[in-house]
Amino acid sequence: MIQIEGVSHRYGDREVLSDINLSLIEDRIGVIGANGSGKSTLARLLNGLVVPSTGRVLVDGMDTARDGAGVRRKVAFVFSDPDAQIVMPTVAEDVAFSLRRHGLSKQEVADRVRDILARFGLGGHPDHPAHLLSSGQKQLLALASVLVTEPEILICDEPTTLLDLRNSRQVAGVLEGLAQRVVLVTHNLELLHGWQRVLVIEQGRVVADGSAEQSIGHYEALMAAGRPC
Ligand code: ADP
Repeated sequence: MIQIEGVSHRYGDREVLSDINLSLIEDRIGVIGANGSGKSTLARLLNGLVVPSTGRVLVDGMDTARDGAGVRRKVAFVFSDPDAQIVMPTVAEDVAFSLRRHGLSKQEVADRVRDILARFGLGGHPDHPAHLLSSGQKQLLALASVLVTEPEILICDEPTTLLDLRNSRQVAGVLEGLAQRVVLVTHNLELLHGWQRVLVIEQGRVVADGSAEQSIGHYEALMAAGRPC
């Protein structure tokens, strides 16, 4: 469980999140809102990439400000741009890199890498240069490299923004089938169809918190009213 208690966040003296209080326990949680409303900052708070200026974020009781490393073993993060996340020259090396501090034998690493690449449709490309993959394949590789460490929760910050419709649907299909709990920040409202819980952020505050249907309706009404972000 992730608990956000009385959290505000400032960059310099500008407050971009104000007094957020949430318990995140559902398997699928969406986060939507206008550009600049604070969604990415909220997402980054969940695994300690950003620590709150006020208040605290607890992951199974661990404070993200005190035990960032422990939190990141449980809570993984996928960025919009997979190039920001791919660090090794080849597909298999990139996935194996994530396991370097897990105390596994070479054979165990090779087995885990092979299995996850097969699951993500990259089994035929282990020695392919990672930077030559298509955008969709790169995002699948970024997901594989994160999920091979078997985190409990996956935070995705607009993972389909740079993808065309086909690749976007492929990544959406992968997210849909994950055993992990997922928190997904997205402008692609289609991805959230049927989700249990969607938060709407506006000007650094949670202004709606309900089913996908309720929250998307609220967001569309906000946008139609032309409220500033
Ligand atoms: P969203 O994901 O909804 O677009 P963000 O959380 O990225 O919103 O940004 C919220 C506000 O904080 C924006 O005005 C943005 O310009 C500002 N901001 C985001 N990151 C930084 C940063 N590292 N330094 C200063 N300001 C930032």
